[in-house]
Amino acid sequence: MSGNEGRVKAIHQIINRELIPPKPPSRLEDIWAENVFNLSKMQASLPKTVFKSIKKTIVTGEALDPSVADAVATAMRDWAMAKGALYYAHVFYPMTNLTAEKHDGFISVQGDGNVISEFSGKVLVQGEPDGSSFPNGGIRDTFEARGYTGWDVTSPAYIMETDNGSTLCIPTVFVSWTGEALDKKVPLLRSIAAMDKAARKVLTLLGNDDVAHVNSSCGAEQEYFLVDANFASQRPDLLLAGRTLFGKAPAKGQEFDDHYFGAIPERVQVYMQDVETTLYKLGIPAKTRHNEVAPGQFEIAPFFEAANVASDHQQLLMTVLRHTAKKHGFVCLLHEKPFAGINGSGKHVNWSVGNSTQGNLLDPGDSPHENAQFLVFCGAVIRGVHKYGPLMRAAIATASNDHRLGANEAPPAIMSVYLGTQLEEVFEQIKTGTVKESTQKGVMDLGVAVLPELTKDAGDRNRTSPFAFTGNRFEFRAVGSSQSVSGPLIVLNTMLADSLEWIGNRLESELAQGMDLDAAIITVLKEVMEAHSAVVFGGNGYSEEWHKMAVEERGLSNLPTTADSLPVLKEEYIEDLFKKTGVLTPVELESRFEVYAEQYILSIEVECKLVINMAKTMIYPAAVEYLSKLSSTITSLADLGVTFDKTSAQTVADLTNSMVGAIGNLSTALEKHDFATTEEKMTYCATTLRPLMDAVREYADALEGEIADSFWPLPTYQEMLFIK
Ligand code: ADP
Ligand code: MG
Repeated sequence: MSGNEGRVKAIHQIINRELIPPKPPSRLEDIWAENVFNLSKMQASLPKTVFKSIKKTIVTGEALDPSVADAVATAMRDWAMAKGALYYAHVFYPMTNLTAEKHDGFISVQGDGNVISEFSGKVLVQGEPDGSSFPNGGIRDTFEARGYTGWDVTSPAYIMETDNGSTLCIPTVFVSWTGEALDKKVPLLRSIAAMDKAARKVLTLLGNDDVAHVNSSCGAEQEYFLVDANFASQRPDLLLAGRTLFGKAPAKGQEFDDHYFGAIPERVQVYMQDVETTLYKLGIPAKTRHNEVAPGQFEIAPFFEAANVASDHQQLLMTVLRHTAKKHGFVCLLHEKPFAGINGSGKHVNWSVGNSTQGNLLDPGDSPHENAQFLVFCGAVIRGVHKYGPLMRAAIATASNDHRLGANEAPPAIMSVYLGTQLEEVFEQIKTGTVKESTQKGVMDLGVAVLPELTKDAGDRNRTSPFAFTGNRFEFRAVGSSQSVSGPLIVLNTMLADSLEWIGNRLESELAQGMDLDAAIITVLKEVMEAHSAVVFGGNGYSEEWHKMAVEERGLSNLPTTADSLPVLKEEYIEDLFKKTGVLTPVELESRFEVYAEQYILSIEVECKLVINMAKTMIYPAAVEYLSKLSSTITSLADLGVTFDKTSAQTVADLTNSMVGAIGNLSTALEKHDFATTEEKMTYCATTLRPLMDAVREYADALEGEIADSFWPLPTYQEMLFIK
C-alpha cells in the first residue's frame, strides 16, 4: 500500500463495521463475583474449621495455618473445574507495571496411562516460575534463577475466561530463593503491616481500648484512550511504544470542552458494558464511567476496596480493558500521553486507612473525640508528604508519566498537600497556638476537648494539587495511567507508618510526663505543623509563582523528570525509612532503583529507534514522493510557459533535509554507550535523547502540514481521535 491507501481502507472498515450488539443486561446479583472463589464460596465448600481458620487469616492478616491448604486446594479445584477450567495460574506482579502468569494443568498422568486431575495444597501455596526472565535488579544471577510464587490468601482466586478457555488464577507474591521481594505485592503487604502496627499504637494512646487490624483502602480512577484497531495497526509507534511519536495537532482538539461528560458514543458504551460485565463477574466493583477531557478519552472508577485487593483488581482491570477492546475492534491506550498536545491520562489513587472498630481514620467524623483522632492521622500524613515528598515523586516516575507531570494539565512534579480552606485554617491555628472558638459558624467547635469540630466536606476541590484531601481520604492525583497502584500505595502506607510511629512516641513521652491527652495531642500536632506546614499549599499548582515559591521559599523539591527523581531511592534517609519499617531491605531497594532506571532507559531507547525507523521508512519516502510529483508538475508547467510558485516545493525540500539532519543527530547520539553510572545514562536520556527525538518530530509534523493528504502514510490525529 502506498500513500494514504491504508488510511482510506481503515476509514471504510470503521464506517461500515457492524457493531457488536450489546449483550442482554444481566441482573447484577446474578453475575456478581460468579468467577471468584470468595469467602461465601469457601464457606459453602469447606469444612467449618478450615473455613474459620482461613477467614481469620483473610480478615486479620494473621499467618496462614498450612494444614488447611489441602482442603482449600481441593475445593478450589472442584469449583474451577466445574466452571470449565483445566489449568491454573499463579499470578504475580513483577517490578515492571505488568502482571505475569505461569499456567499449569490440573492433569496428572498415572502409571496405568490414565489421567486424573490433581491440585494439592503444596501446589496452591507455592509455585516456581522460571524467574530469570523477570527483572530483579541484580538480586539474582541467572545461574541461581529460582524465584518462588507464594499464595496470597488475602486476595481471592478467580477464573479468567477467554475465548480460548478458562483458567483458575491465584494471586501470589513473588520472591527470590533467598527470600527477597521481586514483586510489588510483598512490599505492599509489608507496608500495610507496618502502618497497622503504628496506627494501633496511636489509637490505643488516644484512649481506644478496642482496636482492630488497621488496613489501607484504595479506589483508583483509571483514564484511557480508545483508538480504532484499523488505525492503530498502521502506527508502529502506537503498537510498540503505546503513544504516537509523530502527528500534527488537529484543527480541533479539546478546546471546546465538548467531550468531558458528554454523551458516550454508542460503540464505546457497548464496549464499556462488556468491560463492566466481565469486571462484575470478577468481583470488581466498577462504579463510575464517563468521557474524559480529550476526544477519545474515557474513565472508569471502581468503588474502593482494601489496598491489596484493590491493587490486584486494578491490574486485572487494565487487562480486561485491553482484552475487551480487541473484541470491539479498538486498541485501549493506557499510556500517560498517547497524543502530544492533547490531555494525557492519569490514575487518581484515592487512599485512606481504617478498621472495623474506629472506622475511616481520615474521616473527620461527628464528635470532638473523632476529630482529635482525625487531626492526628491527617497531621501524620502532612508530616509524611513533607519528609518523603521526593519519594512520592519517585514512586510515580516513569518515562511515560514524565510527559504529563509538570505540563499544564497534570499536577506538577512538586509534592504538596491540598487540605481545603477549612482544614488548612485549623492546622494553621494549631501551628500558631491560637486554637479558639471559631468565628465562622459550623467550622470549629471546641466541645469538650480543646479541639475543633469539623464539617465533613471540608472545602473545595483543587485540580492542580498532586495530593489532595477530598473529604474522607487523600487523592494522589499524579499517578500515571499505566502504573500499578502498588508503588504509590507502598510509599503512602510506609510514610504514614513512620509518621504515626513518631507521633506515637511523642505522645507517649508527653503522657508519661503527666500531660493530659488533649494537651499532648495539641503539643505534638503543633510540633508537626511547625516543622512541616511548608508542604501545605492551596493555591494554583500549575502556576509559575508556585514553582518558584515551592523551591526557593519553602524548600520543596521540584524533580521534573524520572532521571531527577529515581536517584532519591538511593538516599540514606529513604533507605532508613524502608529498613526501619521493614518494608524493603537495602538490597531490595537498590534492586528497585536498578529495575526502574533500566526500564526508563529502555523505553526511551526503544522510542528513539522507532522515531528513526518511522521517519526514514515512512515519512521520508512520502516527502520524496510528493516532492517528485511537485517537481514534475513544475517542469511540465514550465514547458507550457506557465509560471508556478515554487515556495511549497522549497518548504517541503527544506523540511525534509532538516529532518534527515535531525535523524542523523539522533542516530549518532544513540550510539553513545560509555556511561559511568546508571544516573548518568538516565540524565543523558532525559536531556539529550529526548530533545533530539523531539527535533525529528518537529520537522516531521511540519511536513504533515505541507504534504498532500493523499501521500501521507500515517493515520492522523484527526482520524484516530474523532473516527469511531
Ligand atoms: P472524583 O472523580 O470526584 O474524584 P470518583 O467518584 O470518580 O471521584 O472516584 C472517587 C474514588 O474514591 C472512588 O473509587 C471511590 O470509591 C474512592 N473512595 C471513596 N472513599 C474512599 C476511601 N475511604 N478510601 C479510598 N478510596 C475511597
Ligand atoms: Mg474522577
